[in-house]
Amino acid sequence: MPTDIEIARAATLQPVAAIAGRAGIPEEALHPYGKFIAKVDTGAIPGFREKPDGKLILVTAISPTPAGEGKTTTTVGLGDGLSRIGRRAIIALREPSLGPSFGMKGGAAGGGHAQVVPMEQINLHFTGDFHAITSAHNLLAAMVDNHIYWGNGLGFDTRHVALRRVLDMNDRALRAIVSSLGGPGNGFPREDGFDITVASEVMAIFCLASDLADLEARLGRIVVGRTRDRRLITAADLRATGAMSVLLKDALMPNLVQTLEGTPAFVHGGPFANIAHGCNSVIATRAALKLGDYVVTEAGFGADLGAEKFFDIKCRKAGLKPAAAVVVATVRALKMHGGVARDALGRENLKALEAGLSNLARHVGNLRKFGVPPIVAINNFATDTAAEHELIRNFCRNHLGAEAVICRHWAEGGAGAEELARKVAALADEGEADFAPLYPDAMPLREKLETVAREIYGAESVSVDAGLAARFAELEAAGFRDLPVCVAKTQYSFSADPTLRGAPSGHIVPLRELRLSAGAGFVVAICGDIMTMPGLPREPAAERIHIDAQGHIEGLS
Ligand code: ADP
Ligand code: MG
Repeated sequence: MPTDIEIARAATLQPVAAIAGRAGIPEEALHPYGKFIAKVDTGAIPGFREKPDGKLILVTAISPTPAGEGKTTTTVGLGDGLSRIGRRAIIALREPSLGPSFGMKGGAAGGGHAQVVPMEQINLHFTGDFHAITSAHNLLAAMVDNHIYWGNGLGFDTRHVALRRVLDMNDRALRAIVSSLGGPGNGFPREDGFDITVASEVMAIFCLASDLADLEARLGRIVVGRTRDRRLITAADLRATGAMSVLLKDALMPNLVQTLEGTPAFVHGGPFANIAHGCNSVIATRAALKLGDYVVTEAGFGADLGAEKFFDIKCRKAGLKPAAAVVVATVRALKMHGGVARDALGRENLKALEAGLSNLARHVGNLRKFGVPPIVAINNFATDTAAEHELIRNFCRNHLGAEAVICRHWAEGGAGAEELARKVAALADEGEADFAPLYPDAMPLREKLETVAREIYGAESVSVDAGLAARFAELEAAGFRDLPVCVAKTQYSFSADPTLRGAPSGHIVPLRELRLSAGAGFVVAICGDIMTMPGLPREPAAERIHIDAQGHIEGLS
């Protein structure tokens, strides 16, 4: 089997105007970036606002394991499968971050014969959106320190500057730094640090904003620090939002690309799935819904984090009503949940597989709590056996009342996902979905967190010390009670302990910290060690990436 990049390079791409044509986007609405990528100005599409919405299909997964599940690959495969059975499908995905591209993960544009292309550009720089977001964020950071330097009229308590700086790179050396060293001309030295751009609140805002005006209003609500008497200081107080919006204006138009089989795909925005909500922009999802009959989109991590936030944050706030959810699982990952070591996953093991199905069962049950009908996609690996597939199918039918479909899009492209496409389309068309978020806006913040922990994680309770109980009260008193909570915890387990696979229950979720993302519109509940600036591994992917004599990029997985 050739590598992802070899498959992507061998493909013949259609001009972006042809892809746009398939999606009903006229050439006047395109801002091309080269031959195969364009930003789309939806305001220039005749009758855009009046078009009815298509059906929204979420692709999510079991709890991730190092064995890999393939959500992006399945999102693309399902989109191509829908196109093959004659449906107007559009895909909506996140933009990859440079950090993971050069670190451990490699590219994030799908895999095998289910990819979005041109994958090299999508993975590296793309249309510059992340640069724009980095610049807008760092402009605000510079304006904070500049304000303090010129007399601190707003009265910042410089021990509590809330805004760190960002960079789209994995660089542990910048996690904790001292800024403004070198003498009085450089300002007041203080502890500072960098997060990766995808962890920036500007990124989360970019992905939740409905238009430029909403973007600017949300940027204005970013809390950058506080005064000594604990009054919050915002980006609006610094008068930073006009310039930030100018930097973000072009980036806010969604990027149109294609799959290997010519299905239109929007790839736009990419917030972290831990301290943010982990899905592509609302603007791209809404555009896709106006233009396609079926929109296939992905949420990060497993369904306990990704799908929960997609529903409770993105769909709640954007008024989206998903029609169906696809839970991606692999035989290998289920065996790992059943206790098999990574190096033994290639062997048939029905007993471990059966034990690991507890993880799938919990996720499927959770999706039903949002009124969204689930279907299971088994992303086939070469080592899977027929008996293993049969066991999963029977279990899903008999115990979960859900269908499990074996798919082979990684090896075969859309043809390998036709059965999944037919069943997903039927499920979405039945109109069985009756979406509702898990909890109402008006519930107190602490109760929201406890509800997610109990209902979704199977936890007994959340441990909250006196300091954090006071912080809940402080946030509510400051007017943030009606925001949803965004839980940052390990993606590897329903619990806060990454080694507890399967479906642990009765555990206690330890709350460590509460962070306000007032512009994005959620309160982040940090439950565990969450890295907002990753490091590079001992042998980073960057060591393998290069350009060969023909000008081809090599090593991008
Ligand atoms: P996720 O979106 O869940 O993080 P991806 O779709 O990005 O996962 O896939 C992760 C990696 O696994 C990719 O490199 C992809 O090529 C590989 N992969 C996905 N499906 C398969 C498969 N069926 N067989 C072999 N490798 C696969
Ligand atoms: Mg992915």
